[in-house]
Amino acid sequence: DLKDLETKLKRIDGKGYGAYKELAGVYRFAEGELFIDKVQSDPFAPPSLLRLKISGDIAQIPSHFYSSFSRRIGLENYLAYQAARMAQNFSRKIGTGKGGIIKVHGPGQEILPRTALEVSQNGSLELRFFVGLPAAGRRILAKEARKILLDYLPKLAKALCYSHLDKTLLKAFVETNEDADLLRSKLKDLGLIGFVADGSILPRASGVDPRPASKAIPFKAPDSLAIEVELPNRGRIRGLGIRPGVTLIAGGGFHGKSTLLRALELGIYNHVPGDGRELVVTSPLAVKIRAEDGRKITGVDISPFINNLPLGIDTRSFTTDCASGSTSQAANIMEALELSADVLLIDEDTSATNFMIRDRRMQMLVSKEKEPITPFIDRVRELYENFGVSSIIVVGGCGDYLDVADTVIVMDNYLPQDATIRAREIIKNYPSNRLKEVQNPFKKPEPRRFAPQSFPKTPKKPPKAKARDNILWGKEIIDLSAVEQLVCVDQTRAMALALPLLAEKLKEGKNLVEGVSYIKTFIEEKGLKSLSPLPRGDLAFFRTIELATALNRLRSLKV
Ligand code: ADP
Ligand code: MG
Repeated sequence: DLKDLETKLKRIDGKGYGAYKELAGVYRFAEGELFIDKVQSDPFAPPSLLRLKISGDIAQIPSHFYSSFSRRIGLENYLAYQAARMAQNFSRKIGTGKGGIIKVHGPGQEILPRTALEVSQNGSLELRFFVGLPAAGRRILAKEARKILLDYLPKLAKALCYSHLDKTLLKAFVETNEDADLLRSKLKDLGLIGFVADGSILPRASGVDPRPASKAIPFKAPDSLAIEVELPNRGRIRGLGIRPGVTLIAGGGFHGKSTLLRALELGIYNHVPGDGRELVVTSPLAVKIRAEDGRKITGVDISPFINNLPLGIDTRSFTTDCASGSTSQAANIMEALELSADVLLIDEDTSATNFMIRDRRMQMLVSKEKEPITPFIDRVRELYENFGVSSIIVVGGCGDYLDVADTVIVMDNYLPQDATIRAREIIKNYPSNRLKEVQNPFKKPEPRRFAPQSFPKTPKKPPKAKARDNILWGKEIIDLSAVEQLVCVDQTRAMALALPLLAEKLKEGKNLVEGVSYIKTFIEEKGLKSLSPLPRGDLAFFRTIELATALNRLRSLKV
């Protein structure tokens, strides 16, 4: 029990840092058990891995809070949030390196399945977290370590028991998550691909702060596009329903177009209470598409968009180390379709103009034979009509898109208006006179297979997430900065752990779709935590779509 830990600490006080290794083990205390799974090798190394287990009869959390998957994820995120705040309060830098820090990876703005805290069937809790064991130079500071391990951690455990919880916030997390999951799962039956509830707060505090803006105009749907939905906790809600097909978000600059699209991009995830986007949901297979010049492309069929490149370059299996704006955007779409994306989210702010449009005058100046690009405007209806793939496109500048839209929303002072009928009149009175440029019918891409020598050989040094947008794998750096639907480094870290598993399947000859669905099943059956050999609390849910985007950006990839 903790007495053993205390004895050990006394013994190693003032010794070299390596003596901390003796602490590895399990210790019982009043609220449960403390596991010291891995002790860091020096004060600057990644902090030590610890767990707290609290049994169900001590935690006393009523079972209706974890009676379904949605409710349990809400509860786990609340408890992780609570633990993270508490840990931050206890945390203070002591001595060398990372000494004194106590870190729980709780939720940011999104509620995601995460490994920081797990509630099991019988109501027991497992908190997984990180501690920087304190030292002066390399000398063990046992008194300081004692304070953390024998004083703070039992307090942390106690704080997670039901009688100490903020019941209002707990209920809000659980019910918010349940409502959001239900709303998303109802989209298909409602005939929608996205929904934005009235009263939602879409803008963020700043470009680097994802919390809600403090002064914002709450969202309100125009009557003609409004839908009402009944939710188990919120009851009846009203909001903007986005139907399948081609939806334009138009409006003047700075009137809130990109902000609405961004909310829809992140509508694949649920949000924490108070975020403002709790009831903004999108199809789980919605994918943000943007230009990403400079990226690596490997064996992607971009021929529906790009053909007859100079030098006779084949675009049915297109490979480049440095994509242009238009080829990168084409590849991003084809790769999304390979993974069964059903909604494409496109913002003109981050699109290649020549990929999006060629107007009448440019068609006159440069003949079709001299232009390799079939612009998106000539494919967007075909994508929907033949393949059921919808698009939501922000356009402020190009009125030719009115021709291909089913619904036109105009953002006016941050409020959406239905301009569909007005758009139809404009089309009639001011025809664009564009010539449709499609020659070959659109073909959905076949799942690709990759050469076995594509993958870095690093059994001892597995891939590592350096940041939300960066994975280091052997000597390869995978740049995810343009993968905008990843929200936190915990997701990237989990993906980094999944990549070697995926590579193994691809080496066996499985195609990319088979490979990522193997990972998906693996996680569904064994849990996210099984991605890591040692239990660790810094992993969060990712979609197979994002896992594929990481692989697609591996520069050593070959077909
Ligand atoms: P657009 O894409 O139409 O040019 P943005 O979506 O980038 O406009 O929004 C412009 C600015 O207005 C941003 O700073 C954004 O945070 C802010 N904003 C967006 N929606 C709202 C809102 N509902 N209330 C207040 N400010 C908003
Ligand atoms: Mg914009």
